[in-house]
Amino acid sequence: MPAGKLVLVPTPIGNLEDITLRAITVLKGADAVVAEDTRTSGRLLQHLAISKPLIAFHAHNEHHVLENILARLRHGAQLALVSDAGTPAISDPGFLLVRACVREGIAVETLPGPTAFVPALVNSGLPCDRFVFEGFLPVKKGRRTRLDELRTETRTMILYESPHRIARTLADLCATFGADRPASISRELTKLHEEGVRGTLGELLAHFSAKEPKGEFVVCVAGI
Ligand code: SAM
Repeated sequence: MPAGKLVLVPTPIGNLEDITLRAITVLKGADAVVAEDTRTSGRLLQHLAISKPLIAFHAHNEHHVLENILARLRHGAQLALVSDAGTPAISDPGFLLVRACVREGIAVETLPGPTAFVPALVNSGLPCDRFVFEGFLPVKKGRRTRLDELRTETRTMILYESPHRIARTLADLCATFGADRPASISRELTKLHEEGVRGTLGELLAHFSAKEPKGEFVVCVAGI
């Protein structure tokens, strides 16, 4: 029996032209596509004219579905894992599956491709020789502790944020690092209304408090 393999396939974070040729080849060759949201990924596959069985794998069923996916891989399946956008396992489901495969000696391969934090960091103009990816700050429990841990961080910090929390997060970052700390926001990367704003945390807070923020955000903050 041929060995099973899990391939993590990054998908566009906005502009559909960012899908790689190799991603298309892997999706075409897979026995099934494991997807965070089968409707979202179904639309992408339809756009690419690829027809594959889809297996739902998201934050709420990860533990439950894991064993089923592992069983398929043990029986030789070639599975592609995609999330709604960007690279699976980066602030998205995938880590548990990768860890389980590694523990069982099942082959795992990750294709390079779209992710929001790399263009946001490079475009920020802040040092990118050393950086720390923080993903989403905890919303309630642990938020204060996490921010306190970052007070003495010397590397550029990268955070993900949603439109309804961006103003609150910028206010908390101002309180933690001071309103003068250089920072950058990338909004709606690769999309029609893409916007990049560089300045101090205080300036960014003023900018994104002026009107209701819309879209997806990556915040980069200079280290101390
Ligand atoms: N797996 C994705 C990746 O590789 O970047 C991240 C998924 S996470 C659930 C979604 C968050 O990523 C958004 O809230 C936002 O912070 C960031 N993000 C995703 N797409 C983006 C875009 N086009 N522009 C700016 N930020 C984006």
